[in-house]
Amino acid sequence: MLTVFEKLLFAVLVLAVIWNGYHAFNRVYRVIRRGQGDFDDANILRRTLAAGLSWLTLKPTWKTRPISSLFHAFIAWGFIFYFLVNFGDVVQGYFPIHFLGTGLVGDIYRLLADLLSVGVLVGMVYFLIRRFLFNAPALTFRPNVKLMERVQAGGVRRDSLIVGLFILFHVGFRFLGESFRVAGEGSADPFQPFASAVAAAWVGFSQNTLIFWQHASWWIALGLILAFVPYFPYTKHFHLIMSGVNFLVKPQRKALGALEPIDFSDESIEQFGAARLEDLPWKHILDAYACIMCNRCQDVCPAYTTGKELSPSALEVNKRYFINAHMADLAADQPSPQPLLDFAISEAAVWACTACGACIEVCPVGNEPMFDILYMRRNQVLMESSFPEQLQTAFSGMERTGNPWKMSASDRMRWAEGLDVPTVAENPDFDLLWWVGCAPAYDMRAQATAKAFARVLKAAGVNFAVLGELESCTGDAARRAGNEYLFFEMAKQNIETLNEAGARRIVATCPHCLHTLGKEYGALGGAYEVIHHTELIAELVATGRLHPRLAADGAITYHDPCYLGRHNGIYDAPRAALTAVAGNFIELNRSRNNSFCCGAGGAQMWKEEEHGDEAVNMNRYQEAAATGAATIAVGCPFCLTMLTDASKQAGAGVAVKDIVELIAESI
Ligand code: SF4
Ligand code: SF4
Repeated sequence: MLTVFEKLLFAVLVLAVIWNGYHAFNRVYRVIRRGQGDFDDANILRRTLAAGLSWLTLKPTWKTRPISSLFHAFIAWGFIFYFLVNFGDVVQGYFPIHFLGTGLVGDIYRLLADLLSVGVLVGMVYFLIRRFLFNAPALTFRPNVKLMERVQAGGVRRDSLIVGLFILFHVGFRFLGESFRVAGEGSADPFQPFASAVAAAWVGFSQNTLIFWQHASWWIALGLILAFVPYFPYTKHFHLIMSGVNFLVKPQRKALGALEPIDFSDESIEQFGAARLEDLPWKHILDAYACIMCNRCQDVCPAYTTGKELSPSALEVNKRYFINAHMADLAADQPSPQPLLDFAISEAAVWACTACGACIEVCPVGNEPMFDILYMRRNQVLMESSFPEQLQTAFSGMERTGNPWKMSASDRMRWAEGLDVPTVAENPDFDLLWWVGCAPAYDMRAQATAKAFARVLKAAGVNFAVLGELESCTGDAARRAGNEYLFFEMAKQNIETLNEAGARRIVATCPHCLHTLGKEYGALGGAYEVIHHTELIAELVATGRLHPRLAADGAITYHDPCYLGRHNGIYDAPRAALTAVAGNFIELNRSRNNSFCCGAGGAQMWKEEEHGDEAVNMNRYQEAAATGAATIAVGCPFCLTMLTDASKQAGAGVAVKDIVELIAESI
């Protein structure tokens, strides 16, 4: 127990820290609230439980890096338990009691505190060695990535060192304090096996020496907490709390990458998209506080992997260091001194994003860097009129002829000549509306998939119809490129057409159409059940309406399209459809939610790829070709184009086919 002087001193320090801490945390709150939008409190109880569970189990952390995740879990669980341990230590400092008693509960408490203390120390040593001894490449940025000066000058390393030493000394001295206590009590405590083992080293120390060190350890352990509290919101250790908050406030999106519309009828809106930090939704400012600077998002980013200037983690780190540098002004409602493009990310990086969603999927704290980039694109297009010039062709094509190829609307049904494909005018009592999509309608290679699907639908006796010349681009590419106004106009027109045609259930031959029609039109008044053609095929095979035979020409592998898999969670149906025809199916290493983009998403299809070391489609193709498969199966016309181009360039003769082509060949 503490002396009276110590008790008074500690109480005064605690009051000072509460005062200081309040101001530090209040500043953080005020900075975050500078962001746009309100808190959505729908289903708050269920969401709180789910967020609490994710926070406690560290569920998203386990997706990648299993060893680091394990050591991180030691630290995280230890630190969560240390909320109780620190409280217990204060109680024991003030009162002559054993916190939680000496019965079963007290025994369990001491055992957990002992085990978790050692867990935290082991975990922390692992991370310090990994960062400072081995200079883990996964924790660095390539030189072409834009970084704030402070980050470049080793800011993240310095921050990591301070946090690491704080944890080592705080937990280390608390643990040593317990060993001095055990030594002072004269016999080992079976419920503190590690502290008891260390206590053996203090044999021969006088009681006075042991008491002195017990007090010193108590003060160092808890004094460090007091010293650290005002600094806490400036460090990445803040993620301990902010990750949980982030899980709770993450928008309830219909799909991983579903964007929310801008209300163009609201004349009070002066800024479209994000030019400055405060133009971002407040959740995305919070992201910077939740970020643990682990670079997991960078690892999976197709743009970074292929040498482009884009690193989603650098974006979050830059935001955080910018906030730290201007915390007082931002909290006082002053405008950001610099636009995002000056410090957070380069313009080339903004245009390198394929909107694949991998950064969102992998992030262990629920960050969504992809949205920041798309909001910046909105600013570039709608406010600055500054975007890669090749996009202008696609924009004007969508605007004038209803397709990014700029081909005539009257040619939309030419692919179907001689196939007897009914339009809604010819078959108004259809059960299923087939949304063909621009690529299967106009692109020479993708037209084969449309023809194959028409054969499949007819073979299965499906009562379907297409919109024909009434169909127009969904606006997906315009939206991902930041041209929200063009998307809005196209979506409105399409919704009117679909509603007039009486569409309820829609099948799409393109995952981008599937995503936009099914997950984004709802916010603009178009509510439809939208399925992918592979889902329909799987359904037709399962119900016995389609009888494909096993194909015998070599192994088949499957590339999960980002907007089918990661964005919409459709992984099993394409595999079910494929296994009906593939005798030898090989799964890619980067598959399902860990799939690697083909390079066409995020409107990349309509512009030159940004400068890097390698083309995204070649990277993916080489992985698929290395499996030895004779055919790469896809479920998206853009993936089909990108991987076909890569296959031609590689000249290795690996075929690239849509699943529906394989099915059509087998019936
Ligand atoms: S969406 Fe994909 S390309 Fe864009 S930043 Fe995230 S991982 Fe990189
Ligand atoms: S955004 Fe997420 S994945 Fe990326 S560095 Fe931060 S915490 Fe890690």
